[in-house]
Amino acid sequence: MRNLYIDFDGVISDTIDVTYQMMKDQGIDRLDVAASSKFYRELDWPTLLEQTPLINNSMEKIQKIIDSNRYNVAILTHVISLDEAVAKIKYIRKFLKEITIIPVPKKVSKTETVCAKDAILVDDYKGNLSEWEAAGGIGVRFYKTKKETKYIDITDLEELLALSIDKC
Ligand SMILES: [Mg+2]
Repeated sequence: MRNLYIDFDGVISDTIDVTYQMMKDQGIDRLDVAASSKFYRELDWPTLLEQTPLINNSMEKIQKIIDSNRYNVAILTHVISLDEAVAKIKYIRKFLKEITIIPVPKKVSKTETVCAKDAILVDDYKGNLSEWEAAGGIGVRFYKTKKETKYIDITDLEELLALSIDKC
């Protein structure tokens, strides 16, 4: 079975759009690396996760993918702090009892954490996907709404079940 890694922020949960709006409301320039890193370090992650909508029924779709036995599924998520990692694991575990959850320190590439070769990464961030493909993996770009890109792109995790391996 092929390994399938699914990003969390912006793919499973709408945390990217929600936190960008929070920064805007608080007058924080999100392009200011130090300020945005401070914002994410100090964020109340358990509350944020409870208040942020899931994207396109992501948890149900992931359960379907697990049940299909088509892939070895894991969630591969960048984290800035240990508090963020703990909150994400506790939150995800409420929905999915049998999935591997891999928090990756923000300063390390996802490709340095797991073996990307021939594995699929579903991610909304182009930087992660180009690193993944450079390491021999298959990148799938996730969007909340349909767009055309040079990557295989999806807006619903269930599309992974119809993905042709030849196309990979
Ligand atoms: Mg993301």
